Amino acid sequence: MATPERAESLDFVRAKVAEDTASGRYEGRVHTRFPPEPNGYLHIGHAKAFNLNFSIADEFGGLCNLRFDDTNPTAEETEYVESILEDIHWLGYDWGDRLYYASDYFEQLHEYAVDLIRRGKAYVCDLSPEETREYRGTLKEPGKDSPYRDRPVEENLGLFARMKAGEFPDGARTLRAKIDMASPNINLRDPVIYRILHAEHHRTGDTWRIYPMYDWAHGLSDSIEGVTHSICSIEFENHRPLYDWFLDELEVFHPQQIEFARLYVSRMILSKRRLLQVVERGYVDGWDDARMPTLAGLRRRGYTPESIREFLKRVGVAKTESEIDVALLEHCVREDLNAKAPRVMAVLDPLRVVIENYPEEQGEEFEAVNNPEDPDAGSRKLPFSRVVFIERADFQEDPPKKFHRLAPGREVRLKHAYLVRCEKVVKDKATGEVVELRCSYDPETRGGDAPDGRKVKGTLHWVSAEHAVDAEVRILDYLLREPDPEADTAADAGAELDDLINPSSRTVLKGCKVEPSLADSPPGSRYQFLRQGYFCTDSVDSRPGAPVFNRTVSLRDTWAKIAKAAAK
Ligand code: ATP
Ligand code: MG
Repeated sequence: MATPERAESLDFVRAKVAEDTASGRYEGRVHTRFPPEPNGYLHIGHAKAFNLNFSIADEFGGLCNLRFDDTNPTAEETEYVESILEDIHWLGYDWGDRLYYASDYFEQLHEYAVDLIRRGKAYVCDLSPEETREYRGTLKEPGKDSPYRDRPVEENLGLFARMKAGEFPDGARTLRAKIDMASPNINLRDPVIYRILHAEHHRTGDTWRIYPMYDWAHGLSDSIEGVTHSICSIEFENHRPLYDWFLDELEVFHPQQIEFARLYVSRMILSKRRLLQVVERGYVDGWDDARMPTLAGLRRRGYTPESIREFLKRVGVAKTESEIDVALLEHCVREDLNAKAPRVMAVLDPLRVVIENYPEEQGEEFEAVNNPEDPDAGSRKLPFSRVVFIERADFQEDPPKKFHRLAPGREVRLKHAYLVRCEKVVKDKATGEVVELRCSYDPETRGGDAPDGRKVKGTLHWVSAEHAVDAEVRILDYLLREPDPEADTAADAGAELDDLINPSSRTVLKGCKVEPSLADSPPGSRYQFLRQGYFCTDSVDSRPGAPVFNRTVSLRDTWAKIAKAAAK
């Protein structure tokens, strides 16, 4: 009998699986599956679903299949299949040799349909799609029987065969299960199980002129694969009676469907249909745009698989839906990157500083520790010279009281280097804009400390002008405008995208100056830019010598504040 590794606090899904293994149901076997439809890229909501399926299989010593639910030929593409494989692997899960497609079962699913007709439990219906909808009734009113409901079995078999042979146009007929048009559960009102569709399928080509509906294909595919626990999101709860009905009527292997709450995250659109619109209407550059909540987008933005798994662990699994603050996700990525990412210097809005008493021909290097949190991360050489860049915002001509950075006459520390004092401000004559600072340095303060023990409050990051590398830096925000709890549902309810989408989700900074160690930064490398946040080398647009970085997340941890306030 299989027992979970971590038995302490089982969520309700694991508790159910544990109960089944304990009672010897399915001979104690645990077999799950993740069934994505290849009609878009996976988002972080899907990650919750496959993380749960793969983890449960793992914890109970079972197996998890990956099965593409490719029953809808018009929306599906091979590009999506490939991205889904890549993203699941990236998050750290593996389906072994169990990669399946619902379309692999089209033949068998068709045989099951013929079987259901023979059992007198399915019929070919000639109602048009509109009529079918009318006959279905509403939540308040029962439906009406189709006039074709009592067709004899032989006639149904003949018509179904002709549907399969492609004799009828799209929508002319359907095959429907004969259940109960008065059922309070609309899903049980003689649901359509096959439709006519003269469409090319990405795997079966033009073999099929009829395609199974989701509910038919899904439960039976689970059954065919010997899945024991069919774990899916909560919107399928009302489909469970239908799932069970098909399997019972056909007397085939019967998995247990279990539903859990979908993941909603503030400021993120987690609906593939909406995300497709976002892509198609050009709000972003593609499915892997670093602003997208897709796994491909989060990866490009710099999120680590570990941080996403940690996030999902903290979110947990429940039956009631709630929206998770995106600050928790950011907190998890910060925590992970704080431990891993080398700390480097990058000036995003450069201001030239000439150190007047530093000899022009002189130059030197400082040894800079890569990550004080990680003793194994080593150090690197940081070149210094007479002209450096600092952040424009680190200087104020007329500073307010609490401003401890550079100002006329003030002394600050250049990280790892020297103490410098601002002697003079050079301005553009026409505009009055500060274009350069003239400073002096104290040669006695090499490394950043004064031998006489005098204190300076400000420590600035900088890069040597002579050695600096020009870079593009993209400051990213979320796609949804505001932390609006309604926004995700509004997105589903059809509110205009223009009203929902944050118009300043990306600010591109050109002419940033980064330290030379970043010149050839490999795509996907993650850093902490000192005092700025965490950044990741863009995997598409970055070039050796001309790096491009995405801001993964800022340094300010709003989640820590939220958690602290909640604890008070
Ligand atoms: P969308 O609503 O974004 O179009 P979908 O459910 O139609 O997604 P599928 O490819 O069918 O997309 O999803 C595969 C699995 O992922 C399903 O079992 C579904 O329950 C689950 N899933 C989808 N979105 C979420 C979510 N936000 N949270 C948890 N699970 C999800
Ligand atoms: Mg779906």
